[in-house]
Amino acid sequence: MTLLEVRNLSAGYGKVRALFDCSFGIDDKEFVVLLGVNGAGKTTLLRALSGTIRSSGEIAYMGSDLQGMPPERRLQRGIAQIPQGRGTFTEFTVDENLTLGATIVSDRRQVRLDKERWYERFPRLRERRSQLAGKLSGGEQQMLAVARALMSRPKLLLCDEPSLGLAPVITREIFAIFKELRDIDGMTLLVVEQNADLSLKFADRAYVIEAGHIVAGGSASAILADEHIQKSYLGD
Ligand code: ATP
Repeated sequence: MTLLEVRNLSAGYGKVRALFDCSFGIDDKEFVVLLGVNGAGKTTLLRALSGTIRSSGEIAYMGSDLQGMPPERRLQRGIAQIPQGRGTFTEFTVDENLTLGATIVSDRRQVRLDKERWYERFPRLRERRSQLAGKLSGGEQQMLAVARALMSRPKLLLCDEPSLGLAPVITREIFAIFKELRDIDGMTLLVVEQNADLSLKFADRAYVIEAGHIVAGGSASAILADEHIQKSYLGD
C-alpha cells in the first residue's frame, strides 16, 4: 500500500530553485534511502515533506494532500523529521529530550509507556537518562534524536544524514536500528544518506537525486549493483 505519493514537487530558497518536479512514492512500512552528493537537494526534499519550507506540487499522504499544511499538523498526522545535526537539546537531559519529543501527545500515561518502550529498545539511553544530551557521544546523540522523534508516535520517519560525523561502525548500528523500526514497529522510513554502500545494505529501496532532479530509483540491491548510477551520481 502506498503511504506517500509525491508528484511534481518543486521548492527553493528565494529565487534559487533547489528541487525540480520530483515525483516518487513510498509504500507503507518501507525503508527508503535518498542518495545524492552534497548540494543535490536531499535536505530540501525532506524539508518540503515535513513542511518546514514551502513547496509546490502534490504531497499525497494516506490519501490526502499535505500541501499548505503547517509542520505541526504534519507531525500530528505522523510525519516526524530528524534534522541534520540531530537537533537534540544539549542543555537538557536525555529524559527531558524524550519528554520534549512528546509535546503533541496529551496522554501523560502514554508518554510514560512510550519512554519505557524506547528505553527498553535503547538501553544506553536508559543508562544515561539523567545526563545532559550534550555529554553523549555522537552515536548516542543520534540514537537520542531517533528516540525523541519516536516519542511523537510517527508513522513516517524522515531522517537527514544520520551518519554525519559518525564512525562507520556506529553508522551501521544506527541503520540496524532503522531496520528494526521497520521490522518490529512497522515504521516507514525515508533516510537521506551520502554513504550509499552502507545504507543500501539495510534499506529496501532507494532514490537518487542530482541537482534537484530524481534521476534513478529502484530496489536497494539493484542500485547497489548499478555501476552507471554509482559512477554518475554517487561519486563512486
Ligand atoms: P548536503 O548533503 O550538503 O546537506 P543536500 O543534498 O541536502 O546537501 P540541499 O541542502 O537540499 O542539498 O541543497 C540544495 C541546493 O539548495 C544547494 O544548491 C544549496 O546551496 C541550496 N540551499 C540549501 N539551503 C539553502 C538556503 N537556506 N538558502 C539558499 N540556498 C540554499
